[in-house]
Amino acid sequence: MMAPAERSPGGGPGDARPSIWDLVIVGGGAAGLACAIYAGRARLDTLLLEKMLPGGQIVLSDIIENYPGFPDGVSGMELAQRMHEQVGRFGARVETATVAGIEVSERPFQVRLEGKGPEDAPRARSVLIATGCSPRKLGVPGEREFFGRGVSYCATCDGPLFSGKRLLVVGGGNTAIDEALFLAKIASKVTVVHRRDELRADRILQERAFADPKVEFLWSHVPSEIVGDDAVRAMRAKHVVSGEETEVEVAGVFIAVGEVPQTGFVPEAVARDAGGYLVTDGDFQASVPGVYVAGDVRSGAYRQIAVAAGEGVLAYRSIRQYLEER
Ligand code: NAP
Repeated sequence: MMAPAERSPGGGPGDARPSIWDLVIVGGGAAGLACAIYAGRARLDTLLLEKMLPGGQIVLSDIIENYPGFPDGVSGMELAQRMHEQVGRFGARVETATVAGIEVSERPFQVRLEGKGPEDAPRARSVLIATGCSPRKLGVPGEREFFGRGVSYCATCDGPLFSGKRLLVVGGGNTAIDEALFLAKIASKVTVVHRRDELRADRILQERAFADPKVEFLWSHVPSEIVGDDAVRAMRAKHVVSGEETEVEVAGVFIAVGEVPQTGFVPEAVARDAGGYLVTDGDFQASVPGVYVAGDVRSGAYRQIAVAAGEGVLAYRSIRQYLEER
């Protein structure tokens, strides 16, 4: 481990890099950032790799109301920035890079980066996978074709492009209703298309959506096609029982039908469950010793920001013990 004076707070340019990191964290969401705060404070040589902005899916949330300590809520962007700053304060290094693979057959592990050769692969005594999830695709005709031309998976990113327009959200979970409420502030009307006749979302979100005059529901329908010319013009949906098809004219379709774990870079030796989530033991260790998993990508996780942060801390505790025993 490096002496504190040589450390790189937040990873400024030109800082010294150890030849072998104690810990490489893949993914800069709540789990990865929380682990990095603790690892930095413990003076572990820690490298956190994030492919986009630190914060992961947090930054996609307009407002987060259930993270303790913010009674008036906090924007996803602000919470992510604060967590990132806190990591920098304690010395873990944060870099933007996409991980292409992890060589787990030898020690130290080698973390291969997209666009870089093996000589640039960080070597690590332990790895935390905290890559979270990405939005699940609907798989209907028009979805891929109109992506970026009216089809979106992120209301806070793309909603402002549709000011005063009629919009549609697919899904009935927390994400769908959060997005519908956010879009209702921008759009002329928002139709939520859900495959059942009751929502999965938390009751407080349901109450708000039912009370919002701009939010309406198309119950018991599944999307069959997204249609348009240069951009989206409408979505067709079928009633789940009668099969009758309805067409809703909209300028934008926001899809929020759940998530899939981001594990494309994870070697096959790391066990998955039937849904593709990474399996761990009670210490957050994956099926390969020295590889740990925390947050939404972990099998059985309760997918909440506060829980992801807590899992990052618990994973840190196990990683530290693992490193001390070697
Ligand atoms: P989710 O809870 O899995 O909900 C997905 C929704 O999409 C469900 O309503 C589901 O219908 C529907 N759906 C799934 N596949 C579909 C398909 N092929 N066609 C049509 N509809 C389909 O996913 P999420 O809303 O993205 O949330 C993911 C996790 O993050 C959850 O644990 C959630 O609680 C959490 N989260 C929390 C908050 C918050 O606390 N405010 C905000 C966002 C997300 P069924 O209901 O019929 O299954």
